[in-house]
Order: sequence, then C-alpha cells, then structure tokens
Amino acid sequence: MTTFAEPSQVVLNPGHGESFTAHMVSAEWTEETGWTSLALMPLADLTIHPGMIGLHYGQVAFEGLKAHRRTDGSMGVFRPYDHAARFRRSCARLAIPELPEDLFVGAIEQLIVADEGALSTDPSHSIYIRPIIFATDTSLMLRPSRTYRFLLMAFVAGGFFGEDIESVAVWVSHDYVRAFPGGTGDVKIAGNYAPSFLAQQAAEAAGCRQAVWLDAHERRYIEEMGGMNMFLVRGSGQDAEVITPQLTGTLLPGVTRRTVLALAERLGHTAKEERISLDQWRAECLSGSITEVFACGTAAVVTPVGQVRDRDGDWTIGDGTPGPVTRSLRQALVDLHHGELADPNGWMHTCG
Ligand SMILES: *Cc1c(COP(=O)(O)O)cnc(C)c1O
Repeated sequence: MTTFAEPSQVVLNPGHGESFTAHMVSAEWTEETGWTSLALMPLADLTIHPGMIGLHYGQVAFEGLKAHRRTDGSMGVFRPYDHAARFRRSCARLAIPELPEDLFVGAIEQLIVADEGALSTDPSHSIYIRPIIFATDTSLMLRPSRTYRFLLMAFVAGGFFGEDIESVAVWVSHDYVRAFPGGTGDVKIAGNYAPSFLAQQAAEAAGCRQAVWLDAHERRYIEEMGGMNMFLVRGSGQDAEVITPQLTGTLLPGVTRRTVLALAERLGHTAKEERISLDQWRAECLSGSITEVFACGTAAVVTPVGQVRDRDGDWTIGDGTPGPVTRSLRQALVDLHHGELADPNGWMHTCG
C-alpha cells in the first residue's frame, strides 16, 4: 500500500503529475442501477481482477482540467461543463454509458472542497483534475463491459506564471500519425496516448520538446502538437491574425483552443480556423508572414514555439523567442484563471 498526504498538507514543490491530493471521488454504473451517487474517499490503491475489460481492451476515457486559486482567495474551476460535455462524447465513442454533466461537476466540487488546502498561495500552482472512467467487467470476450467505474483524482501542478516563458523546438512526425478519419482523434481516450510515445521519444532524441502531427491520409496538413492544439500568428501588431488548424474530426477540440480563439477576438485580433499544410507553414515562416507559433492546452497553458525540425530542413519562427501576441494571449488566459479578467461567459466555476 502506498501512503498519501493528509488533506491539509500544502504541496510546496509540485513535480509533474505525482503530487496527488488526499482524496478521490468514485461512482459506479451497472445496467440495473445506472449511476450510483458520488462517494468521496481517501485516494488509495484499487483492487481489480486481472481479467478486467478496461485493462485488456482499453475501454477507458478521461479528462483533464484545472482549478485555480483566484486573487480573492476563492477557488475557480475552468469551464467544467465543457469538459463534462467532451467526456460524454468520449464515453459515447467507446460504447461507455455517458456520465451526466451534473455528476461530473459535482465530483469536482466535492474534491476541491476536500483538497483545496493542498494548493499553496503561489499563483503559478494549480490543481490538475483527472476524471477517468473504465470498464470493470471480468471478461476477456471482445465486447463492451456491462459495469463501469468513474474516478476523479487530482494533483498539484507547478506552473509557468511569473517565470519567464521559453520557446520550445518541435519535431515534425512523418512516420507516425496520431489520428485518422473514422478513428478516435477527436475524443480523449486512453488508447490515443501510448501510440504517441515513440514519436515523442523521437522528438526528444532530435532535441525537441514535442512532435507535430500531420494528417494521416496525405501527411500534408498540420494538425496538433503532442497533446496540445497549435496556433499560428500571421502579421503583427493589432492587425495580427490568430489562426488554428481547422477541426477535421482527427483533431482533439481543446477547451483551451476554443478559449484562445475567443480571447484573440477580445484582444482585437481576427481569429480563424484554416487547413494549413506543412509546406505552407514553412514558406510563410520563411517569408515572415507567420510571425509566431504556439501550442496550448490545459496542462501547458500557452507554450511558444521557436524552432521547427523537419527532415527537409529546420526553420526558426520570428527571431526564435516568444512573440508579443503569444505573450498577451497567455497573460489574458492566466488573468482569467485568477479572476483578474472579466469573465462575461461565466467560464470560471466557483467551488468551495
Ligand atoms: C487534451 C488534449 C488537448 C488540449 O485540450 P484542452 O481541453 O485544451 O486541455 C489537445 N490535444 C490533445 C491530443 C489532447 O489530448
């Protein structure tokens, strides 16, 4: 048995996904009873049968979202209903019964009330919330399970706020693809991630932080970057356009992506979705038309990209350092999280 921190113990130096908080929330589903009510319990090891369907056939979906301590001391969770809706879509794709959105958000509220004490007052820290659902039938038949378990756990995440942000280099993956038409690229399921590890290792071996995914069919269009959505900035100053690859069914529709599109418009930019080929991306960077590139997601917030490594030659974006549009979008997002930017759409959900 592993032992866990007391609920009130503040995490001062969060690592990267290992500083779990003290509790988890659990619910179960059977055909007869539907969903049970939520139960808050200490985070502890599970006892599972070795022949559990979820373990063998990957009938597992998850989410990732964050709670932040706002400047006024209250806890706010970012867009939980949008994550709840995506979780339902992910479940539906794997023939898993959908978890009602009020149970999803209720579980978050219970966990944050129980464990918010683990979050220090350092504004760069947040609580990363991980809901997961998995198939629990004991059977090695290739069929959907008839029983499921939902668990919601969390860890304290360190951050970037206040630190000087650095640009990363990225590596274009030509041999491995992440998603394909008719597949599961537009949902957040466990099976999407293990197959990306080899490309991630190849990116790291090339001195890069992330792999850039191309479309599976033509290997021509840029789609995503690791587990993040990507953005390009065309032009500069107030006239700069903020562009992200269009959703084609093989991209994960990020909540951060949608938020950044809206924030770009609030900052006076034109925000657009386009299909962009690798060749066009390279040519527009070299001609100076594309001035900035960044990746975004719940975990990474907004991360600037300075260099691209490709088998047909490397290139630098702008002067290789974080650009002004990237910085202002990142700042707007961080301010929103901390209750320092108007929230007309009610994206921040107060907990506790
Ligand atoms: C989770 C994820 C994202 C980012 O989604 P957010 O909702 O912004 O956190 C982007 N791409 C992939 C492949 C992901 O799994």
